[in-house]
Amino acid sequence: MNQTIYDVLIIGAGPAGLAAALYAGRARLSTLVIEKEKDGGQIVITAEIDNYPGSLEHESGPSLVARMADQAARFGAEKVYDMVVDVHLEGEIKRLVGKKGEYLGRTVIIATGAHPRPIGCPGEKELIGKGVSYCATCDGNFFEDMEIFVVGGGDTAVEEAVYLTKFGRKVTIIHRRDELRAVKSIQEKAMNNPKIHFMWDSVVSRFHGDGLLEAMTVKNVKTGKETLIEADEEDGTFGVFVFVGFIPESQLFVDKLQLRNGYIVTDALMHTGIPGVFAAGDIREKSLRQVITAAADGAIAAMEANAYIEGACPVNQPNP
Ligand code: NAP
Repeated sequence: MNQTIYDVLIIGAGPAGLAAALYAGRARLSTLVIEKEKDGGQIVITAEIDNYPGSLEHESGPSLVARMADQAARFGAEKVYDMVVDVHLEGEIKRLVGKKGEYLGRTVIIATGAHPRPIGCPGEKELIGKGVSYCATCDGNFFEDMEIFVVGGGDTAVEEAVYLTKFGRKVTIIHRRDELRAVKSIQEKAMNNPKIHFMWDSVVSRFHGDGLLEAMTVKNVKTGKETLIEADEEDGTFGVFVFVGFIPESQLFVDKLQLRNGYIVTDALMHTGIPGVFAAGDIREKSLRQVITAAADGAIAAMEANAYIEGACPVNQPNP
């Protein structure tokens, strides 16, 4: 049986992958997006996107991504749900091996993104979904009128803490330093919200609970003092939302592409070191990981894939 050889194979259906699909589709390239789970990547766990030009007021991540996916499909991009487990990127025809099948393409755009980093302390893994969460949109409503803690001090932690005040009676941000990393405009929203409190210079060192989060130990990194925070007796539990950064989804490319700190190194036109293989979005080594920069990367990668197929693309090597 003859297998389809696509012009463009895109791994990942987040903003980078979907923008690449839109641009590839509009360039009349046969395009297949391979997504392992559900569309959207990290923005599906984002409650509100207010810094993507043209996003609607109070637009949620899932809503924005659904519009992106519809638009890519309208221009002919196909999609399959499969987990890519091996990649063969050298040569004219690239081969991606999924759990359900194999996919052939003249070019590959890697838009695999990143996943939330865990704290890595005892009890965390056992209590995921039982009090410990990495997604405010998904789990915030379980903690209606309860106490909520947010771990982290970056944009994500502070923005999601503000969102979680819709549910919790009190939201405490636990941060390992005494100043936030989040940009000033996001910090201001938190500082002006009476439901938000802070525990500075502190890290969670252990979660406790048998089937449900009942308590946690928080350590002051300056004094070494440990404090046990227990659930209110009436509530029986509380919520802890962890937003301490992300880990790039680049395991498939170790020893195949140049990685730095786990991120794929590309040039400004999204070329990796292998001709016909591009990377876009949060998986790339870059300074600003946002929906808008992911979408821009995807568009550039698709246009470069088009140029490569037409033989017009000089083979660039990534900048060292
Ligand atoms: P981030 O900027 O890497 O911040 C991670 C936070 O977690 C930092 O405050 C860090 O503390 C803390 N942290 C890291 N490891 C920790 C550990 N083991 N224990 C306790 N705390 C730990 O991650 P992010 O906030 O998810 O943001 C990722 C990217 O997305 C950034 O570029 C950000 O600007 C962007 N973003 C933008 C928006 C927006 O513009 N609306 C929203 C969300 C995300 P330190 O500060 O001490 O390092």
